[in-house]
Amino acid sequence: MKKKIAILGSTGSIGTQALEVISEQSATLEVEVLTANSNSDLLIQQAIEYKPNHVVIADESKYLAVKEALMPHDIKVYGGSRAIEELMGITSADIVLTAMVGYSGLKPTIAAVKNKKRIALANKETLVVAGEIITDLCAQHKVPLIPVDSEHSAIFQCLVGEAEQSVEKIILTASGGPFRGKKTSDLLEVTKAQALKHPNWSMGAKITIDSATLMNKGLEVIEAKWLFGVEADQIEVVVHPQSIIHSMVSFKDSSIKAQMGLPDMKLPIHYAFFFPNRVEASFKRLSFKEMSNLTFEEPDKETFRNLALAFEAMKRGGNAACILNAANEIAVEAFLQDRIKFLQIAALNEACLEKVSFIGKPSIEDYVATDVEARKFALSLLP
Ligand code: NDP
Ligand code: MG
Repeated sequence: MKKKIAILGSTGSIGTQALEVISEQSATLEVEVLTANSNSDLLIQQAIEYKPNHVVIADESKYLAVKEALMPHDIKVYGGSRAIEELMGITSADIVLTAMVGYSGLKPTIAAVKNKKRIALANKETLVVAGEIITDLCAQHKVPLIPVDSEHSAIFQCLVGEAEQSVEKIILTASGGPFRGKKTSDLLEVTKAQALKHPNWSMGAKITIDSATLMNKGLEVIEAKWLFGVEADQIEVVVHPQSIIHSMVSFKDSSIKAQMGLPDMKLPIHYAFFFPNRVEASFKRLSFKEMSNLTFEEPDKETFRNLALAFEAMKRGGNAACILNAANEIAVEAFLQDRIKFLQIAALNEACLEKVSFIGKPSIEDYVATDVEARKFALSLLP
């Protein structure tokens, strides 16, 4: 029996790489569900090639076009973002890869967990927004949450066979992004094109900007807290520009384990699909002979304020990280539309974190309301 995979966000950077992994492993993996927001052309092309049972296009204005194109292929087509959630109760998928971007991944992930689908989690914002609710739900429904984010996959791999209480610290590596080493005065006029040029990884626009502001690392720190059940002071960030060590765990006896490899998201996707097994893959091998050096430095939290804000939100708890995430989604979008400058992203995030109503023990409804309030406030600050 092949494992059936649902890819939420199949037209994105993670989604398309997941399809490459499935192509290579077609003897044991098959596509059950594909979803996209509005890229109907690519979605149709993927559906014809991979023959899933179900396809969802969130943008309802594209629904008829997708339905018509897939009519001869015996594929069920749905429109609207609610359909992604509803499908989680219908599909026979074994694994749901959450590769949508931002807050949009929250409700489909909750629906997938409630329907006992194993989660391969790329969409880190889901854990940032409502980590406690998601991890509690996974425990309640006995659903494994397998990280796909390269750092968290690395930590997860380092923890295999280790007792929870033997962990001392989690060390997340960061490439430092395109502006590593720059100071505030160098960043006043940086452009969107410069920020979108990541030195090591090719990713979607939102995460690429997050990498340039170090918000991505901030979101990952919060993601790590929920995935691995550690406290804020047990998480450290180290800048490692070569992106060869994907992250590390230090143990109580002073031993440190690292997971290494070339920067290629296909490996953590492949690992999440097959965990706990290791299955042969053709990915390019890392050669130590071709590597000149691995270097490490402290992150500059003063210039890249977002990383400090994420630690602050994590310490505050409650809905603070949800506020920060919503503000950041608005800020990044505004930067991509040339409405604000690079440094204003962190300024806007900070203002929202201070001003939006804090809730100590939020319910899921509180998170939804917080997201709305924070977005509204962030929008009101835009020029
Ligand atoms: P992309 O922007 O490349 O792709 C996002 C996908 O989600 C697309 O299929 C898009 O559809 C769909 N989508 C976007 N918004 C919505 C919405 N409102 N409703 C339904 N579907 C939507 O993102 P990435 O692949 O780069 O990132 C996906 C997630 O994985 C993010 O959370 C990111 O942080 C995380 N991640 C990504 C990594 C990477 O290397 N790219 C590494 C580690 C984590 P459409 O194409 O139609 O817009
Ligand atoms: Mg990452």
